[in-house]
Amino acid sequence: MNERSEQAPDPTTPTVAAAAAAAAEPGRGTRLDPWLANYADRTHGMKASEIRALFAVANRPEVVSLAGGMPFLAGLPLDNIAELTQKLLTERGAVALQYGSGQGEEALREQILDVMALEGIRAHSDDVVVTTGSQQALDLVTRIFVDPGDVVLAEAPSYVGALGVFRAYQADVVHVEMDDAGLVPEALEQALSRLGAEGRRVKLLYTVPNFHNPAGVTLALERRPRIVEIARRHGVLVLEDNPYGLLGFDGDPLPALHSYDPEAVVYLGSFSKTFAPGYRVGWALAPHAVRERLVLASESAILCPSMMSQLSISTYLSTCDWRGQIKSFREVYRERRDAMLGSLAEHLPAATWTVPAGGFYTWVTLPAGLDAQAMLPRAVTGLVAYVPGTAFYADGQGQDHMRLSFCYPTPERIHEGVRRLATVVNDEHDL
Ligand code: PMP
Repeated sequence: MNERSEQAPDPTTPTVAAAAAAAAEPGRGTRLDPWLANYADRTHGMKASEIRALFAVANRPEVVSLAGGMPFLAGLPLDNIAELTQKLLTERGAVALQYGSGQGEEALREQILDVMALEGIRAHSDDVVVTTGSQQALDLVTRIFVDPGDVVLAEAPSYVGALGVFRAYQADVVHVEMDDAGLVPEALEQALSRLGAEGRRVKLLYTVPNFHNPAGVTLALERRPRIVEIARRHGVLVLEDNPYGLLGFDGDPLPALHSYDPEAVVYLGSFSKTFAPGYRVGWALAPHAVRERLVLASESAILCPSMMSQLSISTYLSTCDWRGQIKSFREVYRERRDAMLGSLAEHLPAATWTVPAGGFYTWVTLPAGLDAQAMLPRAVTGLVAYVPGTAFYADGQGQDHMRLSFCYPTPERIHEGVRRLATVVNDEHDL
């Protein structure tokens, strides 16, 4: 296993406590920028995450990080993959290292149809665009639909990387309530009616229906057709972001929103969580006319997705037991989810948390009065890290929440991390 283990700290590097204090210091690293007056308006909403500096400290081996969403890649058959890569380069290197089509390789797009069929999607490979991770697909969809000031609806809370994209295109993100069964249809209906009455242009409903990042909840089956119907009736395209859908711990995957109305939904998928994020391969499945614009937008951004990555994934899918690999990932993550929930019940009974049926995350609500963002430097000093809830809202809510990830640390490290977190939380009461 290539999991980080605790090591004796190097005496030449500052202690975690000193580094955490320095990272949390406001204004650190500020320099005069001679180009300040020249930046485009759209960059004004881009902000460096105030927690990024702390994460550099949190990545030290002595810190248990419950912060990142890194998949557990030591579970992959790396020797097989090395052989496949070698063979690919020897036999088809001149193609794998060449430019390719802007839309992505036809053979891979066909294989992506097999992956999506597991969630009830029936589609044509011509409507699939291969992207550089689903993150690029988020960027492309926003680029072709959103003008500055347009509204994007998103769950409260929402994936931090999507909020960053929406901000970069100067969208106005309006959060819609979610509960333990996912996005609340009545809240969506109300938000759309209110925004319509105000004359606002609502362009997208961004949703992560399965094993939500960061909330850990899954959209109930009976809500799925209702959400799609409400959005369609109000003329709003659904952007269904589904990187975790095949990582459910019990039972079969639920049908994708796309399967209810393919003309009303752009579906995003990714190989980052079911295989490996380093290839940076994801995709969008879109209504035909939308797909055409997505390809034009992607060509102008990147010319074409990496051929090497696409052919590697295509070879993996056709020669390895990818379904078996996903099953084994699900078992690893289920065990880690159980470790997380068990440790929370043991050490943090004053908090509440969601019970994820798949994916990587649980969403913790702290006892009243605690501020997860303010507490983070103290947590890092106490050798545990998490992501404060405020990162997942466009409007500064979320102080009393945190996202805990159980994907990367071993069950033992999860227990230790939650034990340390509980000490920090208890000390907060005494401040
Ligand atoms: N959407 C969600 C909800 C995610 O959690 C992530 C990765 N953390 C992404 C999109 C982007 O994934 P990738 O670009 O690696 O496919």
